[in-house]
Amino acid sequence: MLLTITTTHQPATDLGYLLHKNPSKVHSFELSFGKAHLFYPEATPERCTAALLLDVDPVGLVRGKRGQHDGGTLDQYVNDRPYVLSSFLSVAMGRTLGTAMTGRSKGRQELADQAIPLVANLAVVSSRGGEGLIRELFEPLGYTVTTEHHPLDEKFPEWGDGPYYAVKLEGTVRLKDLLNHLYVLVPVLDAEKHYWIGKDEVEKLLRKGQGWLVSHPHKEAIVRRYLPRQRQLAREALARLTEEDNPDPDAAEEAHAEEEIKVEEPIRLWQQRMGAVVAVLRSVGAKRVADLGCGEGKLLRALLDETSLAEIVGMDVSYRSLEIASQRLKLDRMPAKQKERLRLIHGSLMYRDKRLGGYDAATVVEVIEHLDPPRLAAFERVLFESARPKTVVVTTPNAEYNVKFDTLPAGQFRHKDHRFEWTREQFQAWSGRMAERFGYTVRFLPVGEEDSQVGAPTQMGVFDRA
Ligand code: SAH
Repeated sequence: MLLTITTTHQPATDLGYLLHKNPSKVHSFELSFGKAHLFYPEATPERCTAALLLDVDPVGLVRGKRGQHDGGTLDQYVNDRPYVLSSFLSVAMGRTLGTAMTGRSKGRQELADQAIPLVANLAVVSSRGGEGLIRELFEPLGYTVTTEHHPLDEKFPEWGDGPYYAVKLEGTVRLKDLLNHLYVLVPVLDAEKHYWIGKDEVEKLLRKGQGWLVSHPHKEAIVRRYLPRQRQLAREALARLTEEDNPDPDAAEEAHAEEEIKVEEPIRLWQQRMGAVVAVLRSVGAKRVADLGCGEGKLLRALLDETSLAEIVGMDVSYRSLEIASQRLKLDRMPAKQKERLRLIHGSLMYRDKRLGGYDAATVVEVIEHLDPPRLAAFERVLFESARPKTVVVTTPNAEYNVKFDTLPAGQFRHKDHRFEWTREQFQAWSGRMAERFGYTVRFLPVGEEDSQVGAPTQMGVFDRA
């Protein structure tokens, strides 16, 4: 199967920098289903084309799946898989163009961030939804779409047309966007995934769909077809897309987070909070820690300095916060040894997530007050029932203390996105219910200077699995 990408942006050979593949060489990769070759049939300053050729081994595919094809039909050996662009392409793209798909470029970052004229030629796609589906998928993304319908067999016109098309997409887009569009939409067109679809497929879809899928007019159809026969996963993916579907929530979150820091600044509260959380982790001897709702990574930085921690994972629903965290922690320049200890993952605390299982401790710092009360129940089960770490540290503002902040008008929350701020009694009641219901014991520690009347500015609950 063959995909080519051409640019006329000059100097056109800069395409090599964007793809992280030198135009003067042929790059070959072994994949489980065959071989991938990336090469440049033309590379001049005016025009440069990169070709990704996949050599799928149909016999190898059958061999790998012994027992599944007991009928022994011919179509397991003679089929369209070697030449139709399908989920095999996405796997190959993930392996050979992974960095290009994130939009990073060593020598040409500005160009990577810029929309440039690009043409993608998809030699053959199979579209059961006909030409209409091809247009519905790509035109809303700004491409001019040209298709050529192939007859089933040129020698037998009476057999009619098959589902096969050559497709040309032309547009002025960032290369990263084109690659991510193809990664998601080629398997959507083909609708015949070659591998088992698990939960991590939802993560992949949301990651690759970041920034465009949520506003695509056919997003529902795309999600359903990307996750065929997995209604539950499709529902989850759609719910999570919708959750992210309000006008730049991350930007608002950032601005509000700044306001909260200003309110709390005079008492250097966040530094005290980090210190208190780290002290608890030390005292329980945690080795593997998950920071849930890690935001821009303030706690992660402190955790990296704790040499006794072998594994640290930061999770957040906001992709943008994770990007900022990654920049602030200088993840791409971190020595390999450090880097191995830290992982950032995109996910929501509203959904059970296998990746969160098995940690010694989870920290949930200033997060619960951002959750809508009706959805708190889902979070509770995800944390205490599904992830179920040995120790859970939860911090949240103490609403009683708000009267002590000079800059905070009476009755206001510290942060505009807070859905609630609890008194000590409310937090302790909630924590007590959690402990009883899920088999933990809980103790409470004040964070920041404690006032005899209203208590400490931050309240912290430490849950130990019984
Ligand atoms: N723990 C960080 C950030 C607190 S702000 C700190 O102390 O600095 C709250 C964070 O919770 C934000 O980054 C927000 O994106 C995240 N968040 C909100 N809802 C979430 C959800 N459902 N799943 C995961 N993270 C969530």
